Amino acid sequence: MARMKCRVISAGGGRHLNLLFFLFLFFPSASVIAINPLMLQTPPTFGFLFDIDGVLVRGRHVIPAAQEAFRKLLDSNGQLRVPVVFVTNAGNCLQHVKAQELSDALGLKVTRESASSVLGRNPVSLFISVPLVGACVGFQNVVTIQDVRKAFPLLDMVDQSRRPKELPPPTTDFPTIEGVILFGEPVRWETSLQLIIDVLLSNGNPGAELAAVPYPHIPVLACNMDLLWMAEAKMPRFGHGTFLVCLENIYKKVTGRELKYEALIGKPSIVTYQYAEYLIKQQVERRGWPSPICRLYAVGDNPMSDIYGANFYNRYLKAACQARAQAEVKRSVGVADPQSEDHSEPKEDWYVSLESCKSILVCTGVYSPHGDVPADPHESTVETVFHGHRDFRFDTSLLEASYVVQDVNEAVELVFEKENWSQE
Ligand SMILES: [Mg+2]
Repeated sequence: MARMKCRVISAGGGRHLNLLFFLFLFFPSASVIAINPLMLQTPPTFGFLFDIDGVLVRGRHVIPAAQEAFRKLLDSNGQLRVPVVFVTNAGNCLQHVKAQELSDALGLKVTRESASSVLGRNPVSLFISVPLVGACVGFQNVVTIQDVRKAFPLLDMVDQSRRPKELPPPTTDFPTIEGVILFGEPVRWETSLQLIIDVLLSNGNPGAELAAVPYPHIPVLACNMDLLWMAEAKMPRFGHGTFLVCLENIYKKVTGRELKYEALIGKPSIVTYQYAEYLIKQQVERRGWPSPICRLYAVGDNPMSDIYGANFYNRYLKAACQARAQAEVKRSVGVADPQSEDHSEPKEDWYVSLESCKSILVCTGVYSPHGDVPADPHESTVETVFHGHRDFRFDTSLLEASYVVQDVNEAVELVFEKENWSQE
């Protein structure tokens, strides 16, 4: 994708206070914790990717099993015994806010030194390959839905009480919008739906009247495809994926064409897991653990997001291993393949070490053991409700978790047992 360098409209803000400052907190710090020469525990060769909503918390309430799980994960100094990354699609809040929420909920200090988090939007930075320095990942001038609404008050007409009392003078100095980033479900859906459609239909100049609908439209990136998520209520709540369904259908109905995404980011996309893997690697380096991480365990409550994503990544890892093995065989028998050699050659040993990403489904969130996901993945897909995104091919085999457990504490116990890792 071409680097988008100018003005971007952003939407989001339903679940948490939103917006632009996500850029400040992008990367864990580069601080290094020295190797402890007296380390008694064998260095870990596995790590955890934890989803947050429905696994560790339900809304503002911590799930008791999460506290138990973290008692097992922390050593007597309050340090994590194995690498942990929090991977959530709830992208419309600041990373430090999420870290603080976790600290409060789990009674541990979630810092850049102890754990890292991947919010749904973070891999945006990798995708556009912009140096992550300072307060910006390359979007130099960002406007929000509220800015657009303020500049063009005649566009937002659903709520009569918000309509302008008098006819405002036309806005002439508003910058042309060159891309749209969708972070999370907005507060006022009617306003965001109307204004985003206006931006797309006007080629980024919502005050203008165009003779023809521009197509392809300006680039749209979406973070977080979750149709539903689990808060305190007994039934799941609308997620950003539901908002996207509305946007896609309105665009199609109005123009007769498909809304196209430049990229879809967040679970279950591969790029999200690549970024999580990168953060795990950083954590291992900071802690001075000498062994490479060979196995990841992804714990989540949403089959379509957490399980599908982890299985998808596992498949990707297997394919990469296979490609490397084949390249190795070719090399050993002296068959040079100049076209593929550079690509199959691992750049770093650590990446070669990661063998698998196992999925663990918990029953404390969106997933219900009595719900609509078939126990047998080979069952007819007709009977299965597809909660995934429009642009994802529905492969039911990827919905089958490696393990199903009651809660995150059971997940940690299971992994410790499999890894012959002491519980204390
Ligand atoms: Mg969840």
